[in-house]
Amino acid sequence: MTEDSTHPFPSPAPDSAPAPDGAAAPATPPTTPESSERSAFSRASDALQRHRAPSEVWGDEREAVSLALRWAAEHTTVATDPKTTARSAAELQAAVGETITEDGIGAARAMELFDSVLLPATRAAEDPMNLAYIPAAPTRAAVAFDTVVSAANVFGGVWENGAGAIFAENQVLRWIADLLEWPAESAGVFVSGGTMGNLSALATARDHALRARGRRPEGGWALACASTAHSSVASAARLLDMDVVTVPIDDRGHLTGEALEGVLAADPRICAVVASGGTTNAGIVDDLASVIPVAHRHGAWVHVDGAYGGAALAAPSAKGRFAGIQEADSFIVDPHKWLFAPYDCCALLYRDPRPAAAAHSQHAAYLDSIDRGESNPSDLAAHLSRRTRGLPLWYSLATHGTAAYSAAVERCLASARTVATAIEASEHLELLLEPELSVVVFRRPGWTPVAYRRWSQRLAKEGTLLCLPTAFAGEIALRLAFVNPQTDPAAVIDVLERTMHAADGS
Ligand SMILES: *Cc1c(COP(=O)(O)O)cnc(C)c1O
Repeated sequence: MTEDSTHPFPSPAPDSAPAPDGAAAPATPPTTPESSERSAFSRASDALQRHRAPSEVWGDEREAVSLALRWAAEHTTVATDPKTTARSAAELQAAVGETITEDGIGAARAMELFDSVLLPATRAAEDPMNLAYIPAAPTRAAVAFDTVVSAANVFGGVWENGAGAIFAENQVLRWIADLLEWPAESAGVFVSGGTMGNLSALATARDHALRARGRRPEGGWALACASTAHSSVASAARLLDMDVVTVPIDDRGHLTGEALEGVLAADPRICAVVASGGTTNAGIVDDLASVIPVAHRHGAWVHVDGAYGGAALAAPSAKGRFAGIQEADSFIVDPHKWLFAPYDCCALLYRDPRPAAAAHSQHAAYLDSIDRGESNPSDLAAHLSRRTRGLPLWYSLATHGTAAYSAAVERCLASARTVATAIEASEHLELLLEPELSVVVFRRPGWTPVAYRRWSQRLAKEGTLLCLPTAFAGEIALRLAFVNPQTDPAAVIDVLERTMHAADGS
């Protein structure tokens, strides 16, 4: 049988897929040629039939596979709905009922509930007018390949099991290491997110200090960072039983070597310094060129948290802000934030990976037969089993090329500058700082916190714009985070012009 001939199983083939219980079938993407999608989909779902007999344990899963793959194929290409939003657990319980039952509810019902109730109770992170928190804007290629990664089901912890997939991930990590101008021996691993990346890097820093100094200092270990460091840094310190010593920032919001010098000289417990490569709240890049040499003179490890902003290393117009990063010891960037990859994905890199392997390698009778000569991702962070979650980024980068990535990041930077300029020029708004990266922080003079909230909630409900209040320099402010190259800055400016005049936010 050739691949394109009629596919052999009658149940939900794409052209006869049931609309379970009379519910609307998922929308068909208008722009994709039906036929090519159908054949790609048919081939994917037929694979189970051709290569695997129905399982003696699970029976015939073809319908379950077919429904899930069809949904994924279609959803990858449909537009986002900005109005979808969280609902209470009680409401969801009422709408969905018990799904975990002794006999199962069946694939069609489960898929229908997911499509019609569960997913609509989540927020579309990639909507172009979602500018709250740090949203996400994965390429279609990356999203689609995440399904491939799932189907391939590779154990990505050790080279022996995952060599080919790890090799591809490592090529992506090398691209990032080149942006950092790090040496050939630098290495890294993809972990679930910035929180896990920061924790793993700081565990390495603390372990490295213990080996260097031979003992825990009087009073325990400490790390130094600015008050603007991400909340995950304090969380990591708590987990690692380290104190956090806060270093004062300069008048433009940066951690500097000058301020750090005094702090490090006064507190020998500090074994690590965390600098932000783009603060989450305002997109400020700490002064790495002065911070790193000062930290190293005091024997402290420097970890650069670029979870959000590290992507700007790929943008020529912003790369200069990271001057000095060549000498940092570890670095993270979340491709799920601004490198157009789906959740969940953080690239953690070490300039010299040996201290990480010393801190994180797991040893056990059944693990010690593993060939540790090659790259073993499990050695570089707090994990053993892992999904090869760097591969969606690999596929998208391989598809589009790094120049397209640089251009996409530049586009977001340009959008932020355009909107910031319009805010500066407007009579009713006040820009609070010139954006260094792609976060714009501003305020509406005269508004109370209630007015800000009213405005923000109304626009969210209408699906017009997602923009939430934050605090900046001690007062309430608004922030817009541009990580989606599809966001049209003119549309954002139009919303700010149209909706922010009323004195009470209504
Ligand atoms: C988002 C963020 C983190 C945490 O990353 P997660 O992937 O959400 O765990 C850490 N640091 C910075 C600067 C961030 O923006």
